[in-house]
Amino acid sequence: MPSLLINGTWGSASGGQTIEVINPCDAKPYASIDRGTPEDIDRAVKAARAAMDGAWGQLTATERGRILTKAATLIVQHAEEIAQIELRDTGKPLSVARADVVAVARYFEYYGGAADKLHGKQIPYLNGYNAQLVYEPHGVVAIIIPWNYPAQMFGRTVAPALAAGNAVVLKPSEDACMSGLKLAALLVEAGLPPGALNLVTGYGHEAGAALTAHPDINYASFTGSPEVGAMVQQSTAPNAVPCTLELGGKSPQIVFEDADLDKALPIIIKAITQNAGQTCSAGSRLLIQQSIYDQFIKRVAEAFSKVKVGTPEMDFDCGPIVNRKQYERVRGFIDDAVKTGVPLLAEGKVADGCSKEGYFVAPALFGAVPRDHRLACQEVFGPVLSAMSFKDEEDAIQLANATEYGLVSGIWTENGARQARVAKRMQSGQVFINCYGAGGGVELPFGGMKKSGHGREKGFIALEEFSTTKTVVLHHG
Ligand code: NAD
Repeated sequence: MPSLLINGTWGSASGGQTIEVINPCDAKPYASIDRGTPEDIDRAVKAARAAMDGAWGQLTATERGRILTKAATLIVQHAEEIAQIELRDTGKPLSVARADVVAVARYFEYYGGAADKLHGKQIPYLNGYNAQLVYEPHGVVAIIIPWNYPAQMFGRTVAPALAAGNAVVLKPSEDACMSGLKLAALLVEAGLPPGALNLVTGYGHEAGAALTAHPDINYASFTGSPEVGAMVQQSTAPNAVPCTLELGGKSPQIVFEDADLDKALPIIIKAITQNAGQTCSAGSRLLIQQSIYDQFIKRVAEAFSKVKVGTPEMDFDCGPIVNRKQYERVRGFIDDAVKTGVPLLAEGKVADGCSKEGYFVAPALFGAVPRDHRLACQEVFGPVLSAMSFKDEEDAIQLANATEYGLVSGIWTENGARQARVAKRMQSGQVFINCYGAGGGVELPFGGMKKSGHGREKGFIALEEFSTTKTVVLHHG
């Protein structure tokens, strides 16, 4: 089936080439997608521009909202089919794939309802003048998303972009995009006019690079690695196109001696094993106060050794890593840590019956990780937890902020004043206190500080990000 949606019509890539789609459970190809070219991207941008100037641009915010709300209903109706596509593409456990589809539907429900609630402002100004701030769509928006939560990422970016009135050209990941094709088809079925959403599959260095460098886009939304994020920012710069960058993380979970450890333990384990650790907001650093380190790390190790990895149908805690490149990267981090003498305290188990060819990795807990070790600073993007100890509150804050990233922080303490003090000093876009929401919360603004990126997604604030403002001043005397 052709995988390019341009101007409301599905077609093949202009170069006639395809890319194999690999099942991460056995490393075997099971389908193919079109390898979109710069010419295809150009056609998609032109279609989006025509939609902005035509039927799509004429719709009221309420009408746009109704289409998105209808899409939410269709997603719920096709939920099982989308979950099955997603788990085959990514290897996710069945219940996780199902939960992801619930989240996608929620994105369309949320932004469908929010579309006509982005109000402008009246600005107090000189006598005889009426000054207003109005929100307008950017125009043609380029969206590039990664492979870790393909369906959720589609909802998180496409729904608010369309709600705000933009036309979209989406380049999903070549490593996992099958659910996006189904979701795009459902949006067409929901009544989206041709050209409002265009989807071009293909490689990042070809279709992706052509999209972000295209002179007729007005905004770019990128989610992925810091390295590619920097390239995207460089390629949009010559055309002065603004962008949102949602990049990686090395998020700390800080456990103080007065924490409710029973409550913290399962959440800490889930925050790093969910989606096999391939979550940008995974809680990948565990910082434990010295006075309880020995006692708590034993409990963490015991729980960690019970984590099970399996195929989607087994529906255990973790599935495989999504692709070979990432599998080798994660294995590289684990092997290097062992070689350099970092204590491997516990490992999860890969279930019998998993193919040896599949990209399965046993989750690993490392203890007493030296503060300057790469495991303490670099993003693994896999099920690897690095535990370290800290002396007191000040030491905890210094250690938590001691990476280039700043996406999410978790704080575990029953002391209210400390909760407020530490939260204030976290260099991260989200802070969770006595809870942790890796990847969760459609309503919660999300985004990074430092090398985790800039701009905010999710929540109502995403509508503002996908809009520009205009100040209109009328002299009425
Ligand atoms: P990646 O940066 O390699 O690829 C992301 C997307 O960018 C893909 O669609 C790819 O095709 C495209 N791309 C690659 N080169 C490009 C180029 N030159 N120009 C334009 N597009 C290009 O990342 P990945 O391997 O797919 O995902 C893993 C990374 O993404 C991790 O570092 C992770 O932390 C990050 N991530 C961040 C968030 C977040 O919200 N902060 C969410 C998910 C993943």
